[in-house]
Amino acid sequence: MNFHFDHSYCQRLPKDFFIPTNPTPVPNPSVLLFNDNLARELDLSPGNKDLEEAAAFFSGNKLIPGSMPIAQAYAGHQFGNFTMLGDGRAILLGEQITKTGIRFDIQLKGSGQTAFSRGGDGRATLRAMLREYLISEAMAGLKIPTTRSLAVVKTGAKVYREEVHEGAVLTRIASSHIRVGTFEFAHRFVPKESSFLMDYVIERHYPDLNLSKSRARDLLEEVMLRQIDLIVQWMRIGFIHGVMNTDNMSIAGETIDYGPCSFMNTYHPDTVFSSIDVQGRYAYGNQPHIAHWNIACFAGSILSMIHEEKEVAIEMAKEVLNSFPTIYEEKWQAMMFKKLGFSNEADLQQRKNSLFTLLDWMTKNKADYTNTFLVLQGDMPMKGIYLKEDFKEWFDHWQSIEKGNEKDRINIMRENNPLIIPRNHLVEKALDEACLENDLSFFEQMLEVFNNPYRQNAAYELFMKVPENIDVGYKTFCGT
Ligand code: AMP
Ligand code: MG
Repeated sequence: MNFHFDHSYCQRLPKDFFIPTNPTPVPNPSVLLFNDNLARELDLSPGNKDLEEAAAFFSGNKLIPGSMPIAQAYAGHQFGNFTMLGDGRAILLGEQITKTGIRFDIQLKGSGQTAFSRGGDGRATLRAMLREYLISEAMAGLKIPTTRSLAVVKTGAKVYREEVHEGAVLTRIASSHIRVGTFEFAHRFVPKESSFLMDYVIERHYPDLNLSKSRARDLLEEVMLRQIDLIVQWMRIGFIHGVMNTDNMSIAGETIDYGPCSFMNTYHPDTVFSSIDVQGRYAYGNQPHIAHWNIACFAGSILSMIHEEKEVAIEMAKEVLNSFPTIYEEKWQAMMFKKLGFSNEADLQQRKNSLFTLLDWMTKNKADYTNTFLVLQGDMPMKGIYLKEDFKEWFDHWQSIEKGNEKDRINIMRENNPLIIPRNHLVEKALDEACLENDLSFFEQMLEVFNNPYRQNAAYELFMKVPENIDVGYKTFCGT
């Protein structure tokens, strides 16, 4: 394989931002999954790969030539409380530079203890790493910005949680692993070095801001806008991240850290599955509010760079933060209008009425979020609750609003309404069979269909079905 590593993170940032750390060797590594398509996107030339060497590389038993392994320092607000964190079980090997000059972090997750492990074993269970692989790749297929998964290697060692699990290492690819929590770390522990982090992030992720006269203020705004775009995309497909702590919010606007995430089936804004989220802080409908809260933490950590006079800095930050709800609402509405096939020409008030009436109807009728839109665009039969009088009334009104071409309407809808989402029960079935029966066939079938979840395919039928009592008692765990 062809690695072209660079190490801008450890070469450009002060030493406080990382600790050189080698992965800890594992007894018996074997490659369970390898993402050839992604490897090609990274210009790794996977065609000639030697599986034994790949097992050694992606378990951390052998360092990829040119690696400079480090654990990154970061802090974060977890469920509202500030804590020092850092890579407790992940190691960044380097930044792969593609032929076209794109930079990707290559990180091993589950590769052993680091100085940030805080008593943890530095390891990951096979089930959790397979879950991250499956859902992150499905998110990529659904066209949602996300970190990617290159490989899962079984370690041959046991991992002890409530039960005994098989251990695994995931190779995670990200445009970077810098988080809101990285800025919080700098602000709290090495404030004099915050400006280096800001310069680096602007150079790496927001180079247009180099020309800005008010770089920190504009960085706040740009990070906020990317986060808004990301949350709008999550809302489009019913994704519930489950643990939107500030350390799990990427500064580049990618979905990161697939712990207790899940998908909403029956529409309800309060939907939450994470076993530890008893108050619904990270419920489906609360995600925009939490993103806003997290961005406020980000603002707090760069305040001194926004303006030297604190009062002025606060006013400037507030002005940006106060724009969040309106911008979010506009972008969310524009996205929902696309799900309904509306063009901008149709009457705005009528579009809004139609949208909010439908959401209300879905809530009252416990309608499946994904499939309701498929019924509207003619990709699912209109039966059951969709034959009710109040739905028909809504439907007729909806159809009367858009004066444009019917074909155009359906095309917009089909680009925005996935035929399939990773239904929670099917994710668990794929993981059960892979982990308990050593059978990856369903897991692989699922990966395959999520390559293109927007185009009709006979293989999708199983994934479109909603069993009775779906999600009753369903819980996700940080179970790592
Ligand atoms: P997460 O919940 O995956 O976002 O992780 C939160 C923090 O806990 C991060 O600092 C992780 O590195 C750390 N962590 C999670 N699991 C482990 C583990 N098994 N060993 C050491 N650190 C861990
Ligand atoms: Mg995390």
